[in-house]
Formats: sequence, C-alpha cells, structure tokens
Amino acid sequence: AVFDTLSDRLSATFRNLRGKGRLSEADIDATAREIRIALLEADVALPVVRTFIKNVKERCLGAEVSRALNPSQQVIKIVNDELVQILGGETRRLRFAKTPPTVIMLAGLQGAGKTTLAGKLAKWLKDQGHSPLLVACDLQRPNAVNQLGVVAERAGVAVYAPEPGNGVGDPVKVAKDSIDYARTKVHDIVIVDTAGRLGIDQEMMQQAADIRDAVHPDEILFVVDAMIGQDAVNTAEAFRDGVGFDGVVLTKLDGDARGGAALSIRQITGKPIMFASSGEKLDDFDAFHPDRMASRILDMGDLLTLIEQAEKTFSQEEAAKMASKLASKKGQDFTLDDFLAQMEQVRKMGSISKLLGMLPGMGQIKEQIQNIDERDVDRTAAIIKSMTPAERQDPTIINGSRRARIARGSGVEVSAVKNLVERFFEARKMMSRMAQGGGFPGMPGMPG
Ligand code: GDP
Repeated sequence: AVFDTLSDRLSATFRNLRGKGRLSEADIDATAREIRIALLEADVALPVVRTFIKNVKERCLGAEVSRALNPSQQVIKIVNDELVQILGGETRRLRFAKTPPTVIMLAGLQGAGKTTLAGKLAKWLKDQGHSPLLVACDLQRPNAVNQLGVVAERAGVAVYAPEPGNGVGDPVKVAKDSIDYARTKVHDIVIVDTAGRLGIDQEMMQQAADIRDAVHPDEILFVVDAMIGQDAVNTAEAFRDGVGFDGVVLTKLDGDARGGAALSIRQITGKPIMFASSGEKLDDFDAFHPDRMASRILDMGDLLTLIEQAEKTFSQEEAAKMASKLASKKGQDFTLDDFLAQMEQVRKMGSISKLLGMLPGMGQIKEQIQNIDERDVDRTAAIIKSMTPAERQDPTIINGSRRARIARGSGVEVSAVKNLVERFFEARKMMSRMAQGGGFPGMPGMPG
C-alpha cells in the first residue's frame, strides 16, 4: 500500500531513539539524516525534503519540552506535525456555490483516472444527498463519451453528453449548455470531465481554459496519477500555469508504494489535495485528510492519540507540582489526595491497558499495574474519599479504629483499606524512585 516503504523506514528511525533519556545534538542530526533518506527514497521532491528536515531539526533542538512525553515520543510527534503540514494541514473541503449548481471541473492528463474519478466523485456526492450531473466534454478520445456514460450508470447518476450532430466537436458549447440543462433538471452539482492528452500540450491547455471561462467553475480539480511520482509535480505545475486549479485529486494511490507525489504536490503547487482515489471500484475514494494520512504513514494512529491525550491530561504545572512532591524525602509530600488525583488522571486517558503500552520504562511493574481495572479505581477512590483530610495527608495515622470507620464509610472490607494504604506506600516509593531516574508520563524525572 501507499507509504509502506516510508512507514518502515520511519519506524526503524524511531526505534533507534527508544530508551534514550535525552537526545543530544548528534542524536538529532542522525535522526534527521535518516528521515531525509527515507523521504528521498519515497521520491519526495528535494525542496520539500529540505524544508521538512529543517523544520524537524529546529523543533527537535528547540524541543518544546513536554513533560508528558519522552524524547522519542516527542520526535514522533514533531515528525507527525510536520507530515500533516506538508500534506496540507487542515482538510480542505469542497466549496459549494451559493446558488446551485455548483460547477466542478476536472482537468488532467489522459490516463490519470479522470473519468473513473468523475464517477467516484459523483457517487460520493450522491451518497451525501446531492444530485450531480456528469458532463462529457472529452470529445477528443473516441470512446470517452461512452465511458463516462458507463461510469455514470454504475454510479447511478445522470449524464449530459452531446447528441450526435448537435454540438459535436465543441466541448465549450457542451459545457455551457450543460449548466442550463442542470438548472432545468434541478441538479445541484455539475461535474465537467475535460479532455486529457498523453502529454501536456498547448491545445489541450487552451481548450481547458476555454471551458473554464465558459462555465466559471466553483472548483477546478487537477486529477493526477500518484504512481508517476515526482512527474506528478511537474504536470501539476504545467496545469497550474496553463489552466489553474483549486485542488488536487490523487488517483491510483493503491499502486503507489512510495508516496512522493502525495508528499510533494501541496508544497510545490501551493494547492491542497482534496480527494484520493485508491482502486478501480467506485467506492475506493474519499476526501483527503492530512492528519489521517500522516498517522497512516507513521503507522501509529493510536499512539499519537494517546500522546495527545497525555499532553492534555498531564499539564506542565501539574507535573511540576507532582515532581517536587516526589522529590521530597522518600516522596513523603506525595499524599493520598495526590494519589487519587493521579489515578483519576490516568483514567481520564481512557483504557489503562492501552496506556500501559506507551509508558516508557515501566518494565517489571508493568504486569502489576496491568491488573488494575476500572472498578478497582472506583473502589480505591471511594476508600480515599472516606478518609479525613488528616488521614489523606498522613496515612500513617490510620490505626485499627480509623480503618474500621473508613471501611464502613466506603462499603468495603477492613482488609481492603489496609491493602490500599500498603499499596499507596509501595507506589509512592516506586514513583519517587522513578522520579530520580526513570520515566512516567507527567511524572518527574521525565528527561526532556
Ligand atoms: P482518464 O483517461 O483520465 O479518464 O482515465 P480513466 O478514468 O480512463 O482511467 C485510466 C485507467 O486507470 C483505467 O484503467 C482505470 O480503471 C484505472 N484507474 C483509475 N483510477 C484508479 C485507481 O484509483 N486505482 C487503480 N488501481 N486504477 C485506477
């Protein structure tokens, strides 16, 4: 699938960073070098690679120090952010005309997948409740009109094509007439398929420009075969200068293992990728979302979600506060209230077991913590809430009679209270040890 090679390369790079406590400048240089090679192998255009590497390096060196993340997670996050950027940042949605019909014009080389795409786009819009009209303005290729008819039928949408002897040979007139036709038949969207050539030529550009001037499209989409790699970028530049376009549609992503076109085209042309096509079937098509594509490239969607949640959940101030408490002698400033707060924060992050997967340096205690379940968290919270502030502050004062009172208050066995207090002391010892050297999201000792 697309980006496989790049994904593998980047994963290997990140693997090399795992377990590192702090990244030296040399580490960052080495990482940047590996990412550079990965991008070049993916056939990404050189200027794009340069900008990418420069940004990643600057951000790694400037390290927006986040206590929630360890260094390798920070690098992953930075690379992810930059990938989203070069893929276009925000998802660019289709613009609809204030007064219908919305006119969408398709342009691109022959064989780019324009006609197939016209059908996919029409079906996609139809599924959203629109009533698109496909217009056959490719009158160059003998079979193009028929092909569009077939595609339209499969998509279950209407088609407008010149009657034999009526405007044949004049795509500009066909395009113009189709708009009136759409109005009378109440189609709210008109998709104009234009002629492509095998290579860029002046006549083709002129014809596309004439159609453009006749129908004033709301969106001109440049359709390009992703498999041609960097050539896609050159073609895009020619179309930008010759006809102009608003957005890019990448086709045949299913056949492109490298991804060079996808990663280069936005930055080189300044135009967003709006749709992607990834197969011959009508449904192999969707809006293009830079953020989703980036996490697909990094092949770590879940991890990124967790990283983001961790950052949100464990705020800097909170982390610093906990850090100083745990840094106190044997962590004795860390109270049961803090313990409860930490537990609830962890739960906020969703599934505890999922979280565990990303915790760095959890080693031996991982299994122990894996046994925590949500009900256990609830029970623990209930017990702590049944304690007096003094008891939470200093659990050593909890004697037999206090234990019995707490157990009654929280509806548990006395042994459960005893158990909790013991576990708390153990956990505090462990965390204050980790505060010295290990790592824990939002916890002190996070090298960063
Ligand atoms: P046009 O000349 O630009 O109209 O291109 P066509 O729509 O005729 O497509 C050219 C060829 O590419 C056809 O054989 C299509 O089936 C194929 N094709 C189009 N889109 C895709 C795609 O996303 N994936 C794959 N694998 N093939 C595609």
